Formats: sequence, structure tokens, C-alpha cells
Amino acid sequence: METTKRVIINVDKLTVKYQSFVALRDVAFRLYAEDFVAIIGANGSGKTTLIKAMLDLVPIAAGKVDKDKHIHVGYLPQHTSMQDRFFPATVDEVVSTGLLARKTFPKLLTRDDRHRVGRTLDYLDIRDLRKKRIGALSGGQLQRVLLARALVSDPDMLILDEPTSALDQSMREQFFEILRKLNGDGVTVVLVTHDIASAGDYVNRVIYLDQTLLFDGSFGAFCETEAISPFVHTHKLRHAKQGGDA
Ligand code: ADP
Repeated sequence: METTKRVIINVDKLTVKYQSFVALRDVAFRLYAEDFVAIIGANGSGKTTLIKAMLDLVPIAAGKVDKDKHIHVGYLPQHTSMQDRFFPATVDEVVSTGLLARKTFPKLLTRDDRHRVGRTLDYLDIRDLRKKRIGALSGGQLQRVLLARALVSDPDMLILDEPTSALDQSMREQFFEILRKLNGDGVTVVLVTHDIASAGDYVNRVIYLDQTLLFDGSFGAFCETEAISPFVHTHKLRHAKQGGDA
């Protein structure tokens, strides 16, 4: 007998505007616990706006986003000041800030917090970087550290905005493998990406946006959708040529 999947986010007829400009119109879908979803679309199609709406970071003009009250969401934004080479902090300090956001004053780390940081670094296989300064890391290491920061508070759901855009092909695959492991451990993963050619092998679902929702289904079905498949082929070709993000 098929078990009913738990809905954790219900996006219903969502419209988001920036002043009079409509960034998203009438978008509707549900996210289920343990989904691994890629949100794709051209630049300006509303991907970041959609995840910001799911995180309550932009006002909603119409419709709604209902979230399971019990879920805790981790977010890895596209840009953070910590990606600045000169950001004056160690890996340990950066990952610890992922715990501070949820604390009230005084924001002090307990011994348990320090254990959590250590466990998260172990999980991502970066404990040896603990004392390093952020500016001394490679792109792939830095992205793992930012992921550790999003994971240290033990989220049920992780939202990532273009996490692999600065990574080369092998780093990118390693990063997707980590996300696969997380997803296997019960974390719902939502990923905004340009890189559907790589991400397609990992996700169970693709959401394709262009201001409205154009497609929601498996990657296989996405590739077979005639009106859409040129998008994938173009990206595959560019990807192969550049050996990087399309
Ligand atoms: P994507 O992530 O797919 O590139 P975005 O969600 O960032 O798209 O943006 C969707 C559209 O909304 C774009 O045309 C963008 O210029 C516009 N936009 C995004 N943020 C703002 C903002 N804060 N103010 C005005 N327009 C915005």
C-alpha cells in the first residue's frame, strides 16, 4: 500500500510583485518531505524570488505559501559576505554563526553547540579545515563550509541558491553527492540551479519557471517534453564546451 507523502510546503496561486513588476504569477505546487527538487529557468525567471517567498523574505501580492509549522529550514543564499576572501573569520567561527541566529541575547555558544559544529564538520568531511581562515580556502572547500553553516542547526529542509555556480565539474559532482547523502538522511533539498545537466541525475523532481510554473515533474519527463527539451540541450552543449556552469 502506498503511504501518503507529507506535505511540508504548499504554494498556492502565488503572485509576487516588485512595485508594479510581476516577478511570479499564479505559481502552485507542493513540496513533500524528502523531496530533492531542482528549480530551474532562465535568468530573471523568478527562481530566487520563489525561494525568498518560501522563506518569507519577500511580500506576497496574492495567493499563499503554507509551511509545516514544525519544519526548520536551512538556507544557503547565492551571495553572502562570507564569500569575500577578506572576511575575517575562521571556518569554526563561520559555521558557528549558523547557530547564533536562533539564539536570544546573550548569544553565547555552549559546549553542546561546539559539539554540533564538530559533528557537522565531520559529516561534511572538513574537520581538518576548522582553524583555517575563510580566505585561505578553495572554492569547493568554501562552499562546504557555507553548507556546514546552513546545516549546523539541523534543518529538516535545505534551500540552496546556485550553490555550484563557482565550482568546476568534479567539485560540483562532489557537492551534489553530499546533497544526495543529506537527502538520503531525510533532509528535503530544494536547489536553484542553472546546471540541470548535472543536477538532473540527482533530483527526483524538476520545477521549471518562467514567471509562471511551466513544468513540474521528473527530470526524465522534463527532457522528453518537446517544448522544453531545447533548454536542456542548450545547457548540456554549453556545459560540455565550457566545462563549467551554463
Ligand atoms: P532569477 O533568480 O530566476 O534570476 P529573480 O527572482 O532574481 O530571478 O528575479 C525575477 C525578476 O524580478 C527579475 O526581472 C529581477 O530583475 C526582478 N527583481 C528581483 N529582485 C528585485 C527587487 N528587489 N526589486 C525589483 N526587481 C527585482
